[in-house]
This record gives sequence, C-alpha cells and structure tokens, in this order.
Amino acid sequence: MIYKDFQGKKISLLSFGTMRLPQGEDGEINQALTEKMVDYALENGVNYFDTAYPYMGGKSEISVGKALGRHPRDSFYLATKYPGHQFAEEYNPKEIFEEQLKKCNVEYFDFYLLHNVYDNCIDVYTDPKWGIIEYFKEQKKNGRIKHLGFSSHASIPVFKKFVEEYGKDMEFCQIQMNYVDWTLQDAKQKYEILEKAGIPVWIMEPVRGGKLANIPGTPASSAFRWLQQFDNITTILSGMSNMEQMEDNIKTFEKPWLTTEEENKELMDLAERLKNAVPCTGCRYCCDGCPQSLDIPTLIGLYNDAKFQNSVTPSMQMDALPEEKLPSNCIGCGLCSASCPQAIDIPKVMSELTEMREKTMPDWKAICIQRAEEAKQNKQ
Ligand code: SF4
Ligand code: SF4
Repeated sequence: MIYKDFQGKKISLLSFGTMRLPQGEDGEINQALTEKMVDYALENGVNYFDTAYPYMGGKSEISVGKALGRHPRDSFYLATKYPGHQFAEEYNPKEIFEEQLKKCNVEYFDFYLLHNVYDNCIDVYTDPKWGIIEYFKEQKKNGRIKHLGFSSHASIPVFKKFVEEYGKDMEFCQIQMNYVDWTLQDAKQKYEILEKAGIPVWIMEPVRGGKLANIPGTPASSAFRWLQQFDNITTILSGMSNMEQMEDNIKTFEKPWLTTEEENKELMDLAERLKNAVPCTGCRYCCDGCPQSLDIPTLIGLYNDAKFQNSVTPSMQMDALPEEKLPSNCIGCGLCSASCPQAIDIPKVMSELTEMREKTMPDWKAICIQRAEEAKQNKQ
C-alpha cells in the first residue's frame, strides 16, 4: 500500500468510502460482507474509513462503527461529517455530534468534516447563530476531533471565499476530482486554490460513482493511477460495494503506478468526449425527496447511455421498468435539483429522456420483432 504523511500520521492513499456499502435483496446493508471488506481492507494496509451522517439512510455510520469496533481503535482512522448541507429548520451541531459518536461507537473521530460546504449552505455553516464551526473547533480542543476539515461541491467563488475566510481552521479538504472533472467541474482550480492555501487534498468520486470504471477499454485503475501524480493528495476515497472492487483497487495502490504520458493524453481525449454527459455521481441525495419515488440516478445513467453510446439498449431497459418508475412520471417539482451537489437540472433530463424514449421506442420494438423472426427461421 502507498502511504502519505499527514502531520506525522501514515495514511493509506486508498481509503474506504462507505456511501455505497453492499446491500442485500431487502435493501438493508449486508453487515457480514461489510465486515469482511473492512477486515480485508485493514489486512491489506487501508487504514482510513470515511462515512457521513446521511449515508445509506443514516445506517452507514452504524454499520461502519460496528465493523471497525472489532479492531483496536488505533489500527484505523475514522472520518465522518456534519450534515449542515441538508435543509433543516434549525441546526444543532452538539446533538448531531453526540449522536454520531454513539452510532459509530467511538470516543473520538480522527477526522471530522463539514459536509459539502457549497453555495446553498455556506450561510448555514458560517452563521454565528448556529455556531457550527466554533462548536467543532471546541471539540477539537478537547480531543474528540483530532483533525477538522470540510468537503465541498461549491462553485469556485464560494469555494475561494470559504478557503480565504475559514481555511486557517481547516486542516484538509475533500473535493471531487478525476480526469473528467479536472476541467468539467473545475477540480483543477479547486486543487490549485487548496495547494496555494497549504491545505492537503482528500479525493472523493475518483471514478465518478463507478461511471468511469464502466467505460470499455478504460478500467477503474486508469482513473486511480491518473490521480497518483498529484503530490498534494493525501488520500483517495473509493466507495467500494463488493470484494471484487476492493481487491482490484488494493492491487492498483500496492505501489506507485502512474499513468504514462500517452495514457494521460487518451484520458484527456476521453474527458473531452464525455464533457456533455450529465455529471451524475449516483450519490442518491435527490431520491429521498422525490414525490414520485423515481430512481433518478438510474434514469440519468440511461440518458447518458442513450445519448453517448447511440444504442437502443437504454430504451429497452426503460421499457422493462414498472410504469410508475418511468421518467414521464416526473412532475417537474424540482425538489431533486435543490439537493443535487452536481447542480443537475433533473426535471429537464427527465423530460428529454421521456422524449427520447418516445422517439426510439418504435425502432427497438421493430428490432425485437425482427430478431424474434430470425430466431424462428433459424429454428425451422
Ligand atoms: S422534479 Fe421530477 S424527478 Fe425531481 S423530485 Fe420532482 S418529480 Fe422527482
Ligand atoms: S442527480 Fe445529483 S443528487 Fe441525484 S444521484 Fe445524481 S449527482 Fe446525486
């Protein structure tokens, strides 16, 4: 495992993000497999585990706490986050923090982050009325937080403002960075702002919720290897959901394995081609509030596939969905977009997807009839 130094601590360059833990058919976290993955991670040198208050409907913290609780407290670093980015009538950092310590079954957090300081919630985080930053600085002083930082999907002006005004209290910052977001989501600018401010960078969404791992001919390892060139990166969080991903990722981080110049060029070309795709990472923040219970990230995935792969498969997949799950059920309320960290205009995507489906439906139905005909003739 490759390690990076952070204030004298040895942190594994690959860390275990727990936003997408394995689930059983009932939708509940598969605790046995989670524990197996945590054990495997520790055995193979991964020592940083990242969770957050809202992950997996609030159950990630409990599951991770239980899995890590079977190991000595000094054998891992645990990080979680304060949910000031969620809309609420009032914000009570003390109440949430105490609850998190209980849920995770620990006396202290090694790393604690203000979750997604961005345009819609920077005022919540900085309003003295809620005392959020002051409260966590206090917890740091009394040892219940070892290191305080923040994560962010903010626009550049808001990001810059926060770093300028509060950067002195922030020991690290977690941003979304991968070869596609390097220019698409201004990751380059954010990385440079942090580097200039002397704040070490933590990486989230290195493979964009797995989307970059699914591109034929471009394995997940290319995305991870591309990130290894940046000196100011301390750790790269990967939201692993099964053993296969974990084994694969650990192999990539066994020793330094940078992408070659030629590979970098190919990745940048690919990023250029993907520039117009809808930048959904599959975080599912939008799903809870949808009054129509649509599986928004899956639908956006189908939209991107249809648009950039020029294939009829997405239409066929859409037709396999129950009637009430189709994008045509979107009522355009916009609740989803308000909670989307990628600021995606989801109602617009739903409406374009509906149009797309209506247009391509006759094509794929004709293809199916033709294939059935051919199969019949081959049998005769
Ligand atoms: S705009 Fe559509 S997809 Fe978004 S929350 Fe409303 S109904 Fe759901
Ligand atoms: S649409 Fe936005 S909130 Fe919903 S899963 Fe995608 S990135 Fe997350």
